[in-house]
Amino acid sequence: DELISQIAAGEVVERPASVVRELVDNALDAGATEVTVKLLAGGIRSVVVEDDGCGIPADELPMALRRHATSKIASLPELESVATMGFRGEALAAIASVAEVALLSRTAEAAHAWRLDARSGELSPAARGRGTSVEVRELFFNTPARRKFLKTEATELAHCIEAVRRHALARPDVSFAVWHEGKLVEQWRRGTPEQRLKDVLGEDFIAQSRTVDAQVGPVRITGRAGVPDAARARADQQYCYVNGRYVRDKLLAHGVRSAYEDVLHGSRQPTYVLFVEIPPERVDVNVHPTKIEVRFRESREVHQAVRHAVDAALAASRA
Ligand code: ADP
Ligand code: MG
Repeated sequence: DELISQIAAGEVVERPASVVRELVDNALDAGATEVTVKLLAGGIRSVVVEDDGCGIPADELPMALRRHATSKIASLPELESVATMGFRGEALAAIASVAEVALLSRTAEAAHAWRLDARSGELSPAARGRGTSVEVRELFFNTPARRKFLKTEATELAHCIEAVRRHALARPDVSFAVWHEGKLVEQWRRGTPEQRLKDVLGEDFIAQSRTVDAQVGPVRITGRAGVPDAARARADQQYCYVNGRYVRDKLLAHGVRSAYEDVLHGSRQPTYVLFVEIPPERVDVNVHPTKIEVRFRESREVHQAVRHAVDAALAASRA
């Protein structure tokens, strides 16, 4: 089982940023309004994610670490229409198989918090307010081959921050902070969607982009698309979300790209943040271990919808 977990971990946990992504997913699923990420050595030495969510009852702490233990899916039909970020019950078990993990949690009813050390299984009283802290130390300490593939601390830190940024763009109603080596490196306070875009991507992005807001059949697309002049040499400001989940999807990217066909030349990259809302039964999010890829039931329609939505935004900016 340890081995199976480690193999699963290879798919879910590639680097510290994967840990950050999974732990922030869990914090958001728990209804957090404030998420704090604390990193040491780019996250290689330590990733700690603290939230003010619902917490985990002491007697359920060991369950949270078990493979295929999820409190979020009760049936197969439910798997077809998941609203939470997590649902496989794989992340914590996978992470615990390749790092030193501790859970610290307190529910509203509990008199105090409890701490579970994953390795020893020891459960002890602890202090904190309502919510959960997950501590992940020494990633890949027991799989040196993987540890060797990690990049410099600066690069891993940048990936960790990017992981939080992806969440932050989609959840303006939640405050996020990222600390590295005891220093606050990013902070986004909860506010309006417009304010969050400005805080995360900068004033320039807002000034040089147009509102996207279109409903095409069952597909709704909102967000912002950069004007052609704002195009960049690197594809670094391209964010797509499907039902609130950050995705990397060739179909969506191509749909956007085709809207820029006649106005962008060479290898220049459009900038955009797009939120695609689609009835859950029309999209399968269960195709990739990290849930970063999706499959649409009617991909042509989605492609056209995206193209149309971005087209309309760009046309409005020319008029
Ligand atoms: P999944 O998110 O797919 O359910 P995980 O392995 O990520 O699986 O988490 C396992 C379980 O642990 C969750 O279903 C949830 O019940 C609990 N859990 C994990 N993190 C938190 C958290 N930050 N707050 C509350 N519960 C949590
Ligand atoms: Mg999860």
